[in-house]
Amino acid sequence: MSRSAKVIDLRSLRLEETRELVLAHGHPAYRAEQLWRWVHDKGVRSLDQATNLPAALRSSLAAASVTLSALQLAEVQRSTDGTRKMRITTSDGRSIESVLIPDGDKMTQCISSQVGCALDCQFCATAKLGLMRNLSAGEIVDQVYLAKELLAVEAPGQRITNIVYMGMGEPLHNFDEVMQSLHILTHDLGANLSHRRITVSTVGLVPGLRKLAKSDLRPNLAVSLNASCDEIRDQVMPINKKYPIAVLLQTLREFPLEKRRRITFEYVLLAGVNDSDADAARVAKLLAGFPCKLNIIPWNPHPLAPYKRPSPEAIERFQNRAKALGLATYLRTPRGDDIAAACGQLANREQQGLVQLRS
Ligand code: SAH
Repeated sequence: MSRSAKVIDLRSLRLEETRELVLAHGHPAYRAEQLWRWVHDKGVRSLDQATNLPAALRSSLAAASVTLSALQLAEVQRSTDGTRKMRITTSDGRSIESVLIPDGDKMTQCISSQVGCALDCQFCATAKLGLMRNLSAGEIVDQVYLAKELLAVEAPGQRITNIVYMGMGEPLHNFDEVMQSLHILTHDLGANLSHRRITVSTVGLVPGLRKLAKSDLRPNLAVSLNASCDEIRDQVMPINKKYPIAVLLQTLREFPLEKRRRITFEYVLLAGVNDSDADAARVAKLLAGFPCKLNIIPWNPHPLAPYKRPSPEAIERFQNRAKALGLATYLRTPRGDDIAAACGQLANREQQGLVQLRS
């Protein structure tokens, strides 16, 4: 075996790709379905657990550098509001985070798409880590399988109903692996989640949005607007200098939406920065006529950024202004903020430590 042989991660393959692999190893196609069920339905950690697969297939795969990526649950923090934050370790010793948020009969899992993030949104804790690496499709979906295992123990009968790509990272900056993970999560032999229950949240990378528009996968789309004009957005989200608001909105106007679907615009409310009456009026003007809703997220504090959460009165005032000007608004109440699991607070302690050492 040459040392440069490419390692293939079984958990990152689609069913069709698994079938090709199994056939190439001289085994019948139906073995691919069995394999897939072990990996994506039962969420096995190692192929040794896949007991009805012939040992010959397992050893032939292993000899060809076919592996099974497996994340490890390192720690669970539980919030008083029922939110659980999982700290997860990758096989190369990186830490990522994923959050489980119960809400009535829904259970939403917020998953990470990268270790750290390359974008430098000024208000976000993950941004301070910088980008360490992309997660593979297998690592993205494995977060869901680990959560499933956790729920089976802690909350039998509860299952994950919704997935949001709002954890660490910028999903459209890891486009191919994220798309592959969407295929796997929506497959009926996998987690079998409807694309309507999956939301991809992005800073608004225009080339990625254009690629997504052409894809056959249609998750819900959330776009982090976070400012009412370029001047403010340039400051809080420097990516705006590359893809300013007008270009972003034009791209979104051309985005094919399914019937009755709307784009969500996220708006992190920062006291004294983007929460004035004039901001509300400008946002309403920008989004007028757009099939969308505005998701107002009062800033979740963390020690790595100098912002403040607006007062409850200021939050209410902003929402009322936006509503009065015709926007459908939704106020996201912070979940799990007592365990730093709320939006933009994901930057685990070890990695934070690293960043602080570097600076
Ligand atoms: N990179 C993607 C997804 C991750 S962030 C994106 O930017 O959309 C998910 C959401 O949390 C984004 O809307 C982001 O603007 C918001 N966010 C980041 N830091 C936050 C903080 N400290 N408080 C509240 N929301 C925050």
